[in-house]
Amino acid sequence: MDAELPTFRYHPDPVASGVFERRDRPCACCGENRGWIYVPAPYADADLGDRLCPWCIADGSAATRFGAVFTIVEQATVPSGVTDAVVDEVASRTPGFAGWQQERWLFHCDDAAGYLGPVGWDQISEDPEAIKALTDQAESLGFTGESAEAFVGSLDVDGSATGYLFRCLHCGKSLAYADFDDE
Ligand SMILES: [Zn+2]
Ligand SMILES: [Zn+2]
Repeated sequence: MDAELPTFRYHPDPVASGVFERRDRPCACCGENRGWIYVPAPYADADLGDRLCPWCIADGSAATRFGAVFTIVEQATVPSGVTDAVVDEVASRTPGFAGWQQERWLFHCDDAAGYLGPVGWDQISEDPEAIKALTDQAESLGFTGESAEAFVGSLDVDGSATGYLFRCLHCGKSLAYADFDDE
């Protein structure tokens, strides 16, 4: 009954990462009820949270019709070897995710990385590369030594602060950053 979900190079499993959910409702872009909906709200001319089907993200029609941007990619965060086409694919044709603050996409090996999903300590405790990335980030935020480790150890997949895990599509390195509810 369901067509197979489209595939996204930079977001390999949007069901596992939690951004595609089963919903019985028509898509705001194509008008069809495909049985799957993208949950986060993209940056767009219209309120599209919970209203787009995966296919209208994949083929660029949501981006074309509504100016939808799924992740704002700040140029300063893009390594010089990454092409504009890659940045455009991440911003306009790749499902994003919902962070506590404005989301960031991560890059490695001159390409965008694949987003795996939100993580807490339990999900990364066996991943030294992710722990290192998050500890380095904590130190850059002003945490030092044990407090940086405590920050990483306190990450919670369902609460603040939360980590976001990526994997390089070329070398396999784990990449991650964390953000938190600053309200
Ligand atoms: Zn659609
Ligand atoms: Zn790499």
